[in-house]
Amino acid sequence: MRKTLPEAGADWADLKSRMLQMAHGDVRWREGKTAVYVFNAGPEVEQVQKEAYGLFMSENGLGPAAFPSLAAMEREVVGFGLGLMHAPPEAAGALTSGGTDSITMAIKAARDFARRERGVTGSLNVVLPRSAHPAFDKACAVMEIEVRRTPLKDYLADPSAIVAAADAATIMIVGSAPNFPYGLIDPIEALSDLAIAQDLWLHVDACVGGYLAPFVRMNGGDIPPFDFELPGVRSMSADLHKYGYAAKGASTVLFRSEALKAFMVFDFKDWPGGRMVTPTLAGTRPGGAIAAAWAVMNFLGVEGYREKQRQVTAAREAIQAGAEALGFTVLGRPALGLLAFTRSDVDCLAVWAKLRERGWFTGVTTEPKSLHLMLSPFHAAVADAYLADLAWAVEAAKGGVGGEARYA
Ligand SMILES: *Cc1c(COP(=O)(O)O)cnc(C)c1O
Repeated sequence: MRKTLPEAGADWADLKSRMLQMAHGDVRWREGKTAVYVFNAGPEVEQVQKEAYGLFMSENGLGPAAFPSLAAMEREVVGFGLGLMHAPPEAAGALTSGGTDSITMAIKAARDFARRERGVTGSLNVVLPRSAHPAFDKACAVMEIEVRRTPLKDYLADPSAIVAAADAATIMIVGSAPNFPYGLIDPIEALSDLAIAQDLWLHVDACVGGYLAPFVRMNGGDIPPFDFELPGVRSMSADLHKYGYAAKGASTVLFRSEALKAFMVFDFKDWPGGRMVTPTLAGTRPGGAIAAAWAVMNFLGVEGYREKQRQVTAAREAIQAGAEALGFTVLGRPALGLLAFTRSDVDCLAVWAKLRERGWFTGVTTEPKSLHLMLSPFHAAVADAYLADLAWAVEAAKGGVGGEARYA
């Protein structure tokens, strides 16, 4: 829709107040009322994100020679990721703009690897569990690669269904750690065995778990192997702007070796502008996002992350126990920051809508209809308030008709 740009510019003070006014209709995530979209690690981390972002806001990660500062920060952030994910010494990776970017580039690398190293020609496919993130479908749509979604078993990837769907044109199989709809870690070890046996490229989508699971494990949580510790894992995606608590626009895509990563990089010189080498989907890369990721990781350190992730676990355990006490069944055995819970005597989407009336903006899972939460450290403090409203919402929704929960 066309709009006319104002003829005269406005005062920043005036604009700022208008923007804050516009934000009045937004969800109240700082009060812990949102369990989707925002990862609230408290005001201290928010300040570090903001100031670090501002310091490098105009710098461009596209030019590592011009900005060795950003190149160094990216190397360190990717190195931290590789370290946390048990990568071997020859492993490599890149900072991307988000999980979708990381996944797209991992698929691009796997595709070029299949074509060049295995001589695969013609149509290609990626085999993934039904619970895998739609970012895979988007990337495959762009690259005209077929997606084969396989049935789940107990809400988890079923390795036998995945192997049955794979063939000579399969460039990648996928497991999630955890998957988004249920918050459960797929049987990555079995997928890794299968990948080795069948010489398949296994990608682990740890977008929402990569920077959480290692610390939950350090805190004593029971986390199965899910990363490069397993020899069949060739690539991983892990988002810093989720449980890494970085500012938005930061994820990592990681490869078992520099040689595999080389299939991702786009190197072009057949135009009058000179050679341009870009590792990820972006051209211009926001220096602020790189700087904020670097600053937050160094600000928190292992101890800081362990403390934040302890709060996430506490929030999940409190809500899990409270929901069960109210008669809900939790789907599977979540071990990280996401969980989904359901009950058959009331429409969970109607419960969702009732909670929305009380200011709670959460997620849903549709198979089966469930309430879905992605928890932040801050939620530990509001778990009781949520559970009280959940009890009210169940009664209020009884007999009610569930609409369609639209939150995206
Ligand atoms: C969030 C998420 C993605 C996509 O990441 P974006 O940063 O939103 O592009 C992919 N996979 C999983 C499991 C996720 O949770």
